Amino acid sequence: MKPLTVSGAVLDGAPVGLRCVDGRIAALGAEVVSEPGDETIEAGGAPLVAPLVNGHTHAAMTLFRGHGGDLPLMRWLREVVWPVEAKLDAEDVYWGTRLACAEMIRSGTTHFWDMYWQPGATARAVEDAGLRATIGGPLFDVDGKTEAMQRAARGYLEELAESGPLVAASLAPHAIYTVSEELLRWTAEQAAERGIAVHIHLAETEQEVDDCVAAHGERPAAYLDRLGVLGERTLLAHGVWLDEAELGLIAERGCTVVTNPVANMKLAVGGIFPYPAARRAGVAVGLGTDGAGSNDSLDLLADLKLFALAQRHANGDPTVLPAAEAWRVATGACSPLLGGAELAVGGAADFLLLRRDCPELGLGDLHADLVYAASGSAVDTTVVAGRVLMRGGEIPGLGEIVSHAAERARGLGIGRAGRS
Ligand SMILES: [Zn+2]
Repeated sequence: MKPLTVSGAVLDGAPVGLRCVDGRIAALGAEVVSEPGDETIEAGGAPLVAPLVNGHTHAAMTLFRGHGGDLPLMRWLREVVWPVEAKLDAEDVYWGTRLACAEMIRSGTTHFWDMYWQPGATARAVEDAGLRATIGGPLFDVDGKTEAMQRAARGYLEELAESGPLVAASLAPHAIYTVSEELLRWTAEQAAERGIAVHIHLAETEQEVDDCVAAHGERPAAYLDRLGVLGERTLLAHGVWLDEAELGLIAERGCTVVTNPVANMKLAVGGIFPYPAARRAGVAVGLGTDGAGSNDSLDLLADLKLFALAQRHANGDPTVLPAAEAWRVATGACSPLLGGAELAVGGAADFLLLRRDCPELGLGDLHADLVYAASGSAVDTTVVAGRVLMRGGEIPGLGEIVSHAAERARGLGIGRAGRS
């Protein structure tokens, strides 16, 4: 791949150029110019910003968008999601993920954490799209078939091991109410042995907490800690119902909590992640969309506004989450695990150029505009590892991706008449 040089961008209010070589930022500063043979982008004064990290999603669920969403979580899973998922094949997951990747590229996400079936197909789609992802096949053993799930999990990891450098593998036990104690312990041991992350839903609903206390005599975080699951490479999605003692434990163990405010509101879980208490405790935090089935958008920049507003409103305090801090959460900068890309020489060549003519970006504080005024449509150019995935809002091959995904959705009984 040719080196890429961006000139005429604006970083933190100052003119800047940036040169990428072999997927990393080789030079960054006012004096940077292109060299013969470089691919070049003339930014014409466009703001240069770090990209977003979507800390929790189920990418291929774009196929289920708009499908039976007006139900409570457990009914929605049992009656809508799980029956369709039982029919999914690798091509469904591939095209659903390609569609998700296109949406994320368009709205400025360059790295996402995924938990979904057919993780090998997800990895193939991510690589073809040019994004980064940390991928885990979901582990469930409510049926008591723990050994079969362990074999499947090993298979997932073998498939993912064949992926290139932009894909990382994780183990993804679905939740404490769908995975046995035995399988959770096994997951923790395997993850530690292999040095990979554990990605799990935790404390999403109050019912989950009550059931955990009734079954195990302890709250969800304490339960997972007893099984050895909590550590620096553990990502806990949701955390809506974590109490102060659990947040203290999570901070001590160095886990990351990813809040998904839009999915929580859509599924009406009745609370929001206690961000101020988490920050006081020193918990690493990230932001996620959750799957398109429960959001229904993967536009993390739009969700960022909901994150900030929900925290201000619920805490009765407009100073509880400054815009610059909210932006840092969304870019993965508040969690060592999430892998956010800082714009610095030697760092990954992942970045965004914003539209120069974006009406939502005013002359005031850029972070405030990004959090409260802009959505993903403010993104003009998305670059990952020095490769341009979108320029001028155009993603090559998007029409084909949309039509393949619609065909796969129809095959699952989801498509509607008149949609090609
Ligand atoms: Zn989820």
